[in-house]
Amino acid sequence: MSEFDWIAWLKNAARQKLPARPDVLLGIGDDAALCDVPDGMQLAISTDTLLAGVHFPADTAPADIGYKALAVNLSDMAAMGAEPCWFSLALSVPDMDWDWLTAFADGLLELAAEHGLQLIGGDTTRGPLAITITVHGLLPKGQALLRSGAKAGDDIWLTGSIGDAAAALRQWQDKQMQSMKLRHRLDRPTPRVSAGIALRGFANAMLDVSDGLAQDLGHILTASGVGAELELGRLPVSHSLHDFYPDDSTRWQLQLAGGDDYELCFSAPPCHAFAIEQAMAACGVSVSVIGHITAEPGLRCLTPDGEQLVLAHSGFQHFDGPANVH
Ligand code: ADP
Ligand code: MG
Repeated sequence: MSEFDWIAWLKNAARQKLPARPDVLLGIGDDAALCDVPDGMQLAISTDTLLAGVHFPADTAPADIGYKALAVNLSDMAAMGAEPCWFSLALSVPDMDWDWLTAFADGLLELAAEHGLQLIGGDTTRGPLAITITVHGLLPKGQALLRSGAKAGDDIWLTGSIGDAAAALRQWQDKQMQSMKLRHRLDRPTPRVSAGIALRGFANAMLDVSDGLAQDLGHILTASGVGAELELGRLPVSHSLHDFYPDDSTRWQLQLAGGDDYELCFSAPPCHAFAIEQAMAACGVSVSVIGHITAEPGLRCLTPDGEQLVLAHSGFQHFDGPANVH
């Protein structure tokens, strides 16, 4: 099998499983793709790379790798309030392992089909396994939700629940019994695309939680020049996480410093609280207020007793220490 066989196979599989969008004038097959951007809209563009042993455990099923590679990119679109439309796939693989490639494509195209995306191109090279996806999305001009818009007095909100993916990773690293529910959240995160779009006009600042809530919320605080108080007792917890980690401080550590959940964290003025609850219910996404933005800088995490929690780690960094494999 050559890379040309693979590209031809992928092009055909994508044509069967994904929509042919009218705004794609030229897709896979030429030197570049051509897409139309409607009047009054802006392009949102984001790229993420996944590496084995860094972004997913080495034993992850190829279909889950394909799913996750796109999910983390869609999550970035969600975090801007953008509607994802097109994506390209730069794939580096050690060899043309047909079983691996077709299973990988199944997971990838499954999620792409769910969101009506079209695969418009990419690149295929030989090398250590690395998957780089670039997603293009559309936004009405001026409506992107940035990290820099948080204001003192805003509520801080979180979609879904956090900590599950970090717990699954810890179970895998410690070679403990694996909860399938937790592992599913690590392998197949749900990008909150419809929720992100529905928050346009309500949220002042937003991002997706990929590297740990404390660190990621810290990015909003720095970009906005504000601080925050988090109420740990209000952090949304799944049943599975609670069952496996009943101890509060262990669980808080996983929730604050563990990444990979891809929930949306956003700030919004309290006057929008009801509208936000309604909008999220319409998307089928649960949502919680977990604290508020303060004028005083810094992040303070308060236990239900009003004590301040000191974090052992704040989140994942690629260049933090020697080989930082997670
Ligand atoms: P070039 O030499 O011009 O870069 P390639 O042989 O790399 O052309 O690619 C041929 C066509 O196949 C291009 O349209 C490219 O976008 C597409 N392509 C290559 N690899 C992939 C891939 N992994 N996923 C999707 N499209 C791909
Ligand atoms: Mg190329």
